[in-house]
Amino acid sequence: MIQNHNTQTDMHSSRVNGQTAEYLVRAKLASLGYKSLSADTTYDVLTPHNKASIEVKSTHIIETGAGSKEVRIMIQPNQMIKSELDYFVFIAFTGKELEYRVFIIPQAIMIKALEKYDFNRGTLGISFILDTAIDYGCNYGVLTSVIAPMCEDQWQYLTYGRGSFARMRTNYTKRIKRAIDVWLKEKARHTQGGHRYKDPKTGRIHKKAVVECPHCDYISYHGNFSLKRHIGRKHKGKEDK
Ligand SMILES: [Zn+2]
Repeated sequence: MIQNHNTQTDMHSSRVNGQTAEYLVRAKLASLGYKSLSADTTYDVLTPHNKASIEVKSTHIIETGAGSKEVRIMIQPNQMIKSELDYFVFIAFTGKELEYRVFIIPQAIMIKALEKYDFNRGTLGISFILDTAIDYGCNYGVLTSVIAPMCEDQWQYLTYGRGSFARMRTNYTKRIKRAIDVWLKEKARHTQGGHRYKDPKTGRIHKKAVVECPHCDYISYHGNFSLKRHIGRKHKGKEDK
């Protein structure tokens, strides 16, 4: 299970965190009365009573300059193969010892959220912002605005018994997918209308063209130059597209 985490930037601390995160998940399941096993495959943890396959991702919450709390996660291509696992569990450490937030996300939802990315290109680093208002412009805004708020602390989905586990996962997935579709519709409306910008000096209202990133759900209000810069930073090697 350790090797699933060793592509993260800070090798030593991510190894330690990866193992700590896996132990935290197993300890939580034990406290709820469920046995779990360490798996050494595409995913990290297996619960025998319902055969749930769980991939644990650990990260630190990064305080960005603007005062927002950002979570960054690496996703490996084999974890995006349909039905390879049931759930991703993101453990985001706050920086205080053993204090963390947890996001329990169906694999099908991660596949939907990242459908623009070509995983033949390798591991993908994603990021999302916690506790923010709905955001159409940030990278993976769907994670920030919809998925993270809906999936925080949803431990019960890991523990449903064999008879209801798959059904509950399907219901949960459908509910999140509906919310994503609503968000995407709103985003499209927001994008088509252009971004209204009031010039602070002249007081005049300008309408700016909105340009969408073809690789994630970032949108730029400042034209092609900003989009090019974004692609250079976030999607290295795709600059010419
Ligand atoms: Zn992008």
